[in-house]
Parts: sequence; structure tokens; C-alpha cells
Amino acid sequence: MVRYYGTVIRPPSEANSLILQVTYGCSHNKCTFCGTYLDKPFRVRPLEEVFEDIDSVKRYANDVTRVFLCDGNGMVLPQSHLLSVLDKLNSTFPNLQRVGIYANAKDILRKSLDDLTELRSRKLGIIYIGLESGSDLILRKVKKGASVEQQIEAVRKAQQADIKASVIAILGLGGRTLSEEHAVKTAYALNQMQPRFASFLTLMLVEGTELAEEYLRGEFELLQPVEFLKELRTIVENLELERTVFRTNHASNFLALEGVLSKDKEKILRELNRGINGEVPLRPDFFRAL
Ligand code: SF4
Repeated sequence: MVRYYGTVIRPPSEANSLILQVTYGCSHNKCTFCGTYLDKPFRVRPLEEVFEDIDSVKRYANDVTRVFLCDGNGMVLPQSHLLSVLDKLNSTFPNLQRVGIYANAKDILRKSLDDLTELRSRKLGIIYIGLESGSDLILRKVKKGASVEQQIEAVRKAQQADIKASVIAILGLGGRTLSEEHAVKTAYALNQMQPRFASFLTLMLVEGTELAEEYLRGEFELLQPVEFLKELRTIVENLELERTVFRTNHASNFLALEGVLSKDKEKILRELNRGINGEVPLRPDFFRAL
């Protein structure tokens, strides 16, 4: 049996993957909106334990095709450590097609292009990176620990190594005051990245986080459902993406949308306008989740 420690999250698109913890918690763990690993200090999981879990899966399912490595930021691991995990997965699961991982910009940039290509050759096929916002002002406010330029460079570098990038942004992260800046600059950053996937979450305040405290003190204004959709409409209007798959399929969103921006932009905008005008039902708050 695979053993899990503490809260474990994964992207919606990894729902059918084998989820394997190679680290515990997040090496950054400072973002003011993120409560996921507040109670789990960062630790590298011993390699022997990871191998034991892989072997235990092999006993009841050797046809694993996809694996997702968590927790927060597996890319922080030294190259040799990551290679050991990938080699073990490849030798254990002959039908393995793709391994995914959460990655922070600075950890991608710390690796050379050769390192990334080496990981790709061992089937590391996709990184999930939290841009969160294309505004440096907002990134500093939420203590993301990376600039927009670094995030753009990191995504380009991964893609140069033929690793797909799934970039995540958070609607409403600038509050009401910075909503326009957030929308326009996030679209600009995504245009610079041209990622394979662009996914959006809608901000939900998590008890115990710095951002929730700011909200309680009246220093941060949470958008209303329609305002979130209007912000997303501004982002979509400003996007110029060629092959990117656009998704709002995360459970935090009020409206689930999906399409390839280059051909579905008008359709996505139409659906957004219907949501804004109350012509389609929005996901009720009590059904939203992180
Ligand atoms: S948002 Fe990502 S990088 Fe920031 S603290 Fe949470 S897991 Fe870590």
C-alpha cells in the first residue's frame, strides 16, 4: 500500500495517476494565500521509503501509466535524487508514459537545460507551476518568492527541454484594488510563456493564512462571484495563445470552461458573458473547494 503523510493535493488532470510523495510539505511555504502545508514542515522523504511504496504498487498493479510526484515542490530535489526516483519508476512500470511534478520557478532555473533534458528522457513530461499572477506587485504582496520574469524564463526553459508546462493563476489574488492590473499582467505573462496548459483557480480564503488575516483586518477585499468572472473575461480578452489549452475545471471556480484559446476564444467569452449576465448557473459556494 502507498503511504501518505498529511494533506496531499494534486492537479485535477492527475486524477488517474499514481500519487507518490517524494517530499513532504513545500520548500517555500510562505505564500500568504496558501494553507496547504502550514502544518507540515518541509522534508525530503527518504528514498528507501519511496522505493518501498513503488514496489508495493507493483504487487497489485504493474500497468501504471502515469505518476504524479508530490508534495509541494518536488523539483527542489537534487538531480541525482530525482533521477533515482524516475529510474525506479521506469524499471518498475514498463508501460509508464508520463511523470508529473509541481515545480517552483527558481528550482527549474537552478537546473541546467541538460538536467531538464535528462529528466525528460526519463519521462518527466509535465510540470505544474503556480504563476498565481503576472503582476510583480501582487507576487511580492503574496510572498511568492519569484518574479514574473523568473516564472516566464522557467516555463520557457522547461518547454525548451520538451517538458510540458501547466501554468496556474489565481483569480481575485489582487483583491478589488488590483483586479485590473492582475488581469492584464497575467494575460501578458501567459502570452510570453505560451504554455501547453493555462489553468485558473478562484481565490478561496483559508483560515490561518496571512491573506485571511488581512481580509479579517479589512486590508484585502474579496471579489464577488461576478467580479471574478469579469476579471477572467479581461484575462481571456488579452490572451494571445497559439496552442494552449485553457481550463477552469478546478473545483474552486464558479464556472467550468475548457478550450483551445486559438480557436475557442469567442466561445469561452460567450460562456463567460452568460455567467456574468446570470444566464447560466454558477457553482454554489458550498460546492466550491480547493
Ligand atoms: S502556493 Fe505553492 S509555493 Fe506557495 S506555499 Fe503553497 S505549495 Fe508552496
